[in-house]
Amino acid sequence: MANSKYWNEKIETMSVQDLRKHQLDKLKKQVKHCYDNSMFYRKKFKDAGLQPDDIKTLEDIQKIPFTVKNDLRDKYPLGMLTVKPVDVVEIHASSGTTGNPIIGAYTQGDMNAWEELMARSIYTTGGRNEDVIHIAYGYGLFTGGLGFHYGSHKIGAMTIPVSGGMSQRQIKLMKDLGATVLCCTPSFAVYLAEAMANAGIDPKKDLKLRIGLFGAEPWSDKIRERIEADLGIEAFDVYGLTELCGPGVSIECREHNGLHIWEDHFLVETINPETGEVLSPGEEGELVFTTLTKTGIPMLRFRTRDISVINTDKCACGRTHARMIRIRGRSDDMLIIRGVNVFPSQVEIAVMSFPELAPYYQIVVDRPGALDTFAVKLELTEKASKSKKLNKDTLKLDIQGKIHSIIGLTADIEIVKCGELPRSEGKAKHVLDLRKGKI
Ligand code: ADP
Ligand code: ZN
Repeated sequence: MANSKYWNEKIETMSVQDLRKHQLDKLKKQVKHCYDNSMFYRKKFKDAGLQPDDIKTLEDIQKIPFTVKNDLRDKYPLGMLTVKPVDVVEIHASSGTTGNPIIGAYTQGDMNAWEELMARSIYTTGGRNEDVIHIAYGYGLFTGGLGFHYGSHKIGAMTIPVSGGMSQRQIKLMKDLGATVLCCTPSFAVYLAEAMANAGIDPKKDLKLRIGLFGAEPWSDKIRERIEADLGIEAFDVYGLTELCGPGVSIECREHNGLHIWEDHFLVETINPETGEVLSPGEEGELVFTTLTKTGIPMLRFRTRDISVINTDKCACGRTHARMIRIRGRSDDMLIIRGVNVFPSQVEIAVMSFPELAPYYQIVVDRPGALDTFAVKLELTEKASKSKKLNKDTLKLDIQGKIHSIIGLTADIEIVKCGELPRSEGKAKHVLDLRKGKI
């Protein structure tokens, strides 16, 4: 199956027409499976006056009502299972960033598909069996660690299941075992780069890292540039969520122009998050996925709340699967400050364009009186903090101007002591919203 370029050439490069045929075939089967085996979906169909046979084309999917995170929370833990519990071989859970965790239940078939998708994803970035793959995503219920683990095994690479934390030990292991691929959240990669510098290790000379597979949270191109420069690697964005399988939904190829969505397993739509109207490729909206092959807890039209744009243009890498641009943020991460919509990622883009700043930031929003306050806390790099030439007041004004040009709001800029902002081993928390509970 695998050759020098593709893990599964037949599937990855199949014509779009064949891909659509494949999707329709799988969709019809999935709809029937859900209708026959899930009270939840059967009720949804009945309420909408829909029968499985009404789904005759891919567009007919628009007749099916959306599934939302709260449906899964209401049916916690296994109320949405569409197989017998005895057929479940593994359980995972979301990290609970935005509420109660959501359970993922996998049959052996679901596990095989996930493993295949992770192998395909790692292979797409250039990972091969001669690689030493250092996995610093959390192991356990979180899908990150084990997802990469299964994929790394499948391609036959030397798999190092370090999980999160213990940065000094991680660095030692990377050095001693000659890690070539680093898998973790972008926040942890930033932190590891800092810890290496503090320990006097130059990753470009002392380590063999060449690829980084970073995901599970939004990150900007500026952060990518920093990580690539600091670690001397090529970084790839990887996307997924527990409701679909975990990582393995989409990944960047070496063209670095969007993440290929593995469309043989997932049917993607984008919608207007306010009205639910289906958008065309090229229009920014909320990603909605239907799992075409999953049988444990299948998702029909699952609203992710993640904001992106679908690109169906041909990719130079030869893969025919549509791409999604890097996630701008989740709709529930969006802050409304003085009536203006603000994504933390926009602040990140603004502040990371200043080489004097370390790659950490915290947004603090409050409402002490009638108006929202909006502050951004930042740190200087070691070098900048030692520089005699640096004028902090001018720098603050420049940062303020940059944020204003992107968001349209004036932020209070606070430059805090080096090491004061929280470092993250998993998904970073960039926002402190102190307005909760205040009117
Ligand atoms: P949660 O964080 O909601 O508890 P998960 O652990 O399943 O649940 O994480 C999935 C979510 O993480 C996605 O819906 C998305 O918001 C975010 N995410 C995952 N990968 C990326 C990525 N590459 N870029 C931006 N956000 C991502
Ligand atoms: Zn490509």
